[in-house]
Amino acid sequence: MINLYELSFNALAEFIVELGEKRFRARQIWDWMYGRRVDSFDAMGNLPRATIKRLNETTTLGILELITSQISRDGTEKRLYRLTDGQLIESVLMPYDNNRQTACISSQAGCAMGCVFCASGQMGFGRNLSAGEIFEQAMIFARDLAARGERLSNVVFMGMGEPFHNYNASLEAIHYLMDRLHIGARHITISTVGLAPQIRRFADEGLQVKLAVSLHKSDDAERSALMPVNRRWNIAELMEACHYYVARTNRRITFEWAAIAGANDTEEEARRLGNLLSGLLCHVNIIPLNPTGGYSGGPAAASNLHRFSEVLRQFGVGATVRVRRGIDIDAGCGQLKTAILNRDQIARYS
Ligand code: SAH
Repeated sequence: MINLYELSFNALAEFIVELGEKRFRARQIWDWMYGRRVDSFDAMGNLPRATIKRLNETTTLGILELITSQISRDGTEKRLYRLTDGQLIESVLMPYDNNRQTACISSQAGCAMGCVFCASGQMGFGRNLSAGEIFEQAMIFARDLAARGERLSNVVFMGMGEPFHNYNASLEAIHYLMDRLHIGARHITISTVGLAPQIRRFADEGLQVKLAVSLHKSDDAERSALMPVNRRWNIAELMEACHYYVARTNRRITFEWAAIAGANDTEEEARRLGNLLSGLLCHVNIIPLNPTGGYSGGPAAASNLHRFSEVLRQFGVGATVRVRRGIDIDAGCGQLKTAILNRDQIARYS
């Protein structure tokens, strides 16, 4: 079966002709898919019955199979999907007061980066997602929001996986989001653990997409202990790539700081970070650590974080302490983990 979300308009047109249909049907189908955002061929009212039948026999409109959905007290929604080969992924929708609706989507099933404080890192690597599979997570949220008269406004690549470890598919998915869902580049954020070569490559793309870099530590030995990727590209190499990015794009980088009690929330650490980032066009997002099963660290105290961001400001580095979202349903940053479902549970859900 061909997943139509994987096809560009031209590829769809070719495919439709191969199916023995008129070429103009491709435009009709495309409009149903991305204009009206229907979820089945049967809903494509201006197609002949025979065409709909042929489409149903040969193609699918997406492949994500919804297994569960949970809603947090704060309105955050987390969805668990199964892919055609059985792999599981999660995506999250976060409503905000100012009409913003942000989808947090996965780029891989599991993750190979192994950050010790991250649930996706703890579960290991399944496989790369295709561009269509990445895109479809946002597509589904956009469709459901439209049905209630709302609009998906933002997308962040902050779900499971390392998007720069699946560079081409992630980039393709970004284009799908812009072209098909009309989400502006400035409303899309791609977040990386710090793959320096891909940061440079991304700088060269000429996109206005936002870049977030997960830093979490300003000392090499300690960062390596938390984030194995630091042994491959250390902080100096990472910062060189970040400087290149800013010079090339003139765009501000967001550094993410998962604040762990006693580990990276001290004034000394803030001063070292301030020195590191001083003079770079950037902002620091401080997120109190979310608990995960495989890591014993806890969230830093709010009072420490207030002080931490004040110190950063003394270095001319802006910082914001973020409110954690969806913690009661394990939908917060770094909490996505699908391996908890065993075969029996999956069978029961399906
Ligand atoms: N692999 C990419 C995309 C994941 S984004 C990256 O690392 O940037 C998820 C963000 O949540 C990253 O900044 C990640 O470091 C952070 N994170 C991971 N585990 C966390 C946890 N337990 N609490 C808070 N943030 C966490």
